[in-house]
Order: sequence, then structure tokens, then C-alpha cells
Amino acid sequence: MSHSLQRLGKNKGGYFGETIDIHRVLRDDLEAARKFGWQIEELPVSDQLDLLAFRRIVRTPRTKLYLSTGIHGDEPAGPETVRQLLQENRWPSDVNIWLCPCLNPTGFPLNRRESADGVDLNRDYRHLQSAEVRAHVAWLKKQPNFDLALCLHEDWESPGFYVY
Ligand SMILES: [Zn+2]
Repeated sequence: MSHSLQRLGKNKGGYFGETIDIHRVLRDDLEAARKFGWQIEELPVSDQLDLLAFRRIVRTPRTKLYLSTGIHGDEPAGPETVRQLLQENRWPSDVNIWLCPCLNPTGFPLNRRESADGVDLNRDYRHLQSAEVRAHVAWLKKQPNFDLALCLHEDWESPGFYVY
């Protein structure tokens, strides 16, 4: 079967595609994580906000994989992908996985790259001005060194996918 994907050409100077209900996505993530035995951690950011971090520990691990996404609130493909991966639960049997399903939960309701406080969190790891990044870095420092780290973004100006 041939399958062609028509590009809509909507995203001129910003993301104008479909948005996601990030709270719904994270609820689904939590449900799948509980169902399939992930360890679940809540990283406190503020009185109102936590970040989620999941950990999957297997019996005979050969590799340590880190996955994160949702750092830009106008890139819904990453959180959608992670939700589907969690629900399908088809992970390699010899890989321990650390997973941050959404690093910018306040940006998505605004469909905005930055957090609600206006910070591009992806650019904040050298400055640590945002509570989100401070919480994430404090958590990362407690984890082992990863063999592979994949930070999933969405590039809605580019066809296909690539490693950067
Ligand atoms: Zn991005």
C-alpha cells in the first residue's frame, strides 16, 4: 500500500497545528506507568507544580537509556510519542530507562515554546533561572550516567525526523 502524507503548510513563523491537553496526556502516562510497573517520582517545582520522572528497572540491564520530552510547549509530538510508547509497552528487555514525559507542563496550555513564566527552558541549563530546570537538574544529579540520552523535540518546519 502506498501512503503519502500531505503537508498542510500551516506553520509559518509558529506552530499552528493541533494542540494537546497536556494534563490528559500526563494522566494517561501515569496510568500506563502504574499498569506496567514503572517507578514514579514527582519532582517538586513549586506549590502548584511537579515534574514527573519514571524509571523502568529490569533484571539484567545492559544499557541505561534516558528519554525526555515536552520542554517546548508548542511541540506536541514528543509528549504524544511518549504516551504511545508507555501505552504500547514494547521496550527492550535489557535496558533500564529513565523517562521525563514533560519538562514544560505550563507551556502546553498556552501552546507556547516557553514556560508560563516566559523562559525557554531548553536554554536555561547553564543559568538555572527557572524552577523547572532547577528541579530537573537536581534530579539528574542523583541518577547514574546514562549510555544514551534522547531529548525528543518536534521540528514542525522539517519533513521526516533527524538526530541533532
Ligand atoms: Zn524543541
